[in-house]
Amino acid sequence: MQLSKLTQTLSFGLDIDTGSGDDLQTGCLEARRIRNETNRLDGQGWEWDDIKSTVVTNADHVNNTTQLIVDKALGELETYRDNKDDGWGRPYPYIDGLYPMVMNHGEGYRLFPEDDTTVRFRITATRGTHVKGELRGSPDHFDRLRTAFNDEEWRVGTAEVVHKHDEWRLHVTITHETHRVASKHDADTIVGVDVNEDCIALVAMSRNGAVKDSVVFEYPSVKEQRHEFFTKRKRMQKAGQTGFESVVQTEERDYVHDALHKVSRHVVEWVSQFLDPVLVFEDLKDMRDSIDYGTRMNRRLHSLPFAALQEMVSYKAAWSGIPTDKADPEYTSQRCPRTECQHTERANRQKKRFKCLECGFQDHADRKAAVCVVQEWFDEQYGNVPPLDTLPQVKKVRRAVSGPGGGADSHGPTSGSGVDRHGPSARDSQSQAREEFKSVASAVPE
Ligand SMILES: [Zn+2]
Repeated sequence: MQLSKLTQTLSFGLDIDTGSGDDLQTGCLEARRIRNETNRLDGQGWEWDDIKSTVVTNADHVNNTTQLIVDKALGELETYRDNKDDGWGRPYPYIDGLYPMVMNHGEGYRLFPEDDTTVRFRITATRGTHVKGELRGSPDHFDRLRTAFNDEEWRVGTAEVVHKHDEWRLHVTITHETHRVASKHDADTIVGVDVNEDCIALVAMSRNGAVKDSVVFEYPSVKEQRHEFFTKRKRMQKAGQTGFESVVQTEERDYVHDALHKVSRHVVEWVSQFLDPVLVFEDLKDMRDSIDYGTRMNRRLHSLPFAALQEMVSYKAAWSGIPTDKADPEYTSQRCPRTECQHTERANRQKKRFKCLECGFQDHADRKAAVCVVQEWFDEQYGNVPPLDTLPQVKKVRRAVSGPGGGADSHGPTSGSGVDRHGPSARDSQSQAREEFKSVASAVPE
């Protein structure tokens, strides 16, 4: 089996105090020139070694950075050569957007951890131009960065400067020296993941399309409790208690963070039972479109932090040696999974129920969406989707997501009809979660 080092990417915002975003812009424009030049010379039949030496000599980046940018551009060409028999096109010869600057730690960029919450950076934007300041990011990413600096098993690797969502960001890779992750191409079990605001559906399929097992983890309390935090904040805003607002915000953040950790742990535990699995998520860039929000009043209130959840699952999976991948989510919620039908229509889905208006196939809507994620992955990887076996009964597991160690976990009843029915134990865990919320909330004066 092919294994690769465990590498993770941490994303930080840049609070610049020396130099400017314009300097980074100049650096990324030079990176684009290097990328396009590499592509052009390859098109003229140059040897790659010659491309490297010529382009590096003429670039306005430090040599090491130029080499990494050339490597990235050649990597695109290599991927094309490896896959052109499958119809992959050659990378576009001339991109006119920005191209990331790729830099080695200690050469093109350097990080300086100062204390628990302060990490300074220095980026060489072009030869002789330095941009300095402080990193901004999630507590999780700062934690992992600290580990990478302090633990000799970890190494801080290359970083990329990118311009995203109207701001400059630094994507830092950290690598574990001994841990290895399996290649997705060796996977025997393809696990499709469908993330929703109130549940996560998983389906494990073999390469011949047989469904090994499926599960729906429900976590109603995330949504309900976020609603309570929201209501509480609004109430305090009205009463002018601004000082308490940040307290609730911090509690809400910690609560959601904790909930995501628990949900992601359940997911990885479940996936670990299968032989050589790969986890396949929906690609987030189109994710919002694939979820039927209907007329819900407040998207922010109702949305789980999808990106954070995917990232935590990927992180925990990687530690178990399990690779993750992405598939295009288009129509996964509307398409009939029967390979001989594939009828796609919005009305196929009625809340948690999927019923194909063409062939009459019925299933739990989210479990079915997870099946479609796997089918999409098969199609993207191999251009072929194996015929769908009959699906097993939907197994639902209701998890309490707050409380110490997830001790209130309970298994909901198996529901063949897919209609929501909750046993007494499920209600217990829900009410327990509610009690725990109250004890958090009661720390804030009314
Ligand atoms: Zn159908």
